[in-house]
Amino acid sequence: MRAVTYHGTGDFRVDTHPDPGIEHPRDAILRVTSTAICGSDLHMYDGFIPAMKTGDIIGHEFMGTVEAVGAGATNLKVGDRVVIPFTIACGSCHWCRQKSFSLCDESNRDAETLAKLNGQASAGLFGYSHLYGGYAGGQAEFVRVPFADTTHLKVPDGMTDEQVLFLTDIFPTGWQAAVNAEVGPGSTVAIWGAGPVGQFVLKSCLLLGAEDIYVIDDVPERLALARAQGAKTIDPSEAKPYDALMDITDGMMPDAVIDAVGLESHGSGVLDTIYDRVKTATFQETGRPHVLREAIMCARKGGVVSIPGVYAAIVDKFPIGAAFAKALTFRMGQTDVMKHAPTLLEHIQEGRIDPTFLITHRGGLEDAPALYKTFRDKKDDCIKVVLTP
Ligand code: NAD
Ligand code: ZN
Repeated sequence: MRAVTYHGTGDFRVDTHPDPGIEHPRDAILRVTSTAICGSDLHMYDGFIPAMKTGDIIGHEFMGTVEAVGAGATNLKVGDRVVIPFTIACGSCHWCRQKSFSLCDESNRDAETLAKLNGQASAGLFGYSHLYGGYAGGQAEFVRVPFADTTHLKVPDGMTDEQVLFLTDIFPTGWQAAVNAEVGPGSTVAIWGAGPVGQFVLKSCLLLGAEDIYVIDDVPERLALARAQGAKTIDPSEAKPYDALMDITDGMMPDAVIDAVGLESHGSGVLDTIYDRVKTATFQETGRPHVLREAIMCARKGGVVSIPGVYAAIVDKFPIGAAFAKALTFRMGQTDVMKHAPTLLEHIQEGRIDPTFLITHRGGLEDAPALYKTFRDKKDDCIKVVLTP
């Protein structure tokens, strides 16, 4: 089969690999019909995720039809159309029983290594390094789905791939970020990042009844899309987000601040970003947390800092004093996709949201290397790429 393959930083190719087969009774083999490129894939493309190996297959946003199924995955049959959550979940450990699927104790084959780094290991993820199980990803013609009986969502008849594809990750991720931020009727929210995740945070805040939503980014077409959804926008290259938010909120600042950027935040001419660039280049820091620092400064006293943006290992100059003195609450983590996906499927079915709104680019698997560049460089007004193998 053909699959998008890691060859090093900035070097993803489409290679031929052996077709996957059933390795465990709870496995299923999926014929991938649609798969998307995620901002999280860019962290590997840009060299921020350790424990990648040449030959690894990328991709964690995918869906398709069941091609083969193990004897233990009794609720699936050949031909079923399913969306696969990117967090692999056994369904029965302590964490899965409380729907904290991203913390599954059973699905990460590299749990020992990750526990050494983090104190305890979290769930296995598709196509996301040898710290998260080293599972082959779904930017491929076929993919093996472990724990398939508890790691799938069936697609109702009559729905297109593009209507449900983002239930695999970014819609639940946006939703979880908004729920973690305690967004409800009347909330004031500031969202950093108007990429795919930021756009779904915004949609989720609207579904949850937020009143005032401010979106911060410096990519014009992404800001325009946020405005089209009803947000007010702030471009940090034109105004300091802190000053702009103080001004618009009359000094109150937002109830919740949401970092939908993560470890690769940029900031033109901002001093701490220059510092982070030097520290990351010399392996003394594993990310550029400019947005996180700014969000903490912009959070209202007693407010919530919700962090869907990915961080890895260690960052510097974390303003713990500001967080402490303002009594902030922090919520973060990989998304517990299957906790939210059934509710979000209903929102789609009942027409409250059409998730296709952010797709700007479509291609085949062989187009992936070029489309990775387009997405990373935000060329050609690219917001979200969908590939059909
Ligand atoms: P993306 O790279 O397309 O979007 C990031 C956006 O942040 C870009 O539009 C960029 O211009 C903007 N940005 C960068 N620096 C900024 C700054 N200083 N101020 C304001 N905006 C800035 O990525 P995406 O697909 O939208 O994903 C966003 C983040 O969410 C990534 O870190 C990704 O890994 C993470 N993510 C997390 C989960 C999870 O389970 N928690 C799931 C999916 C994605
Ligand atoms: Zn993703």
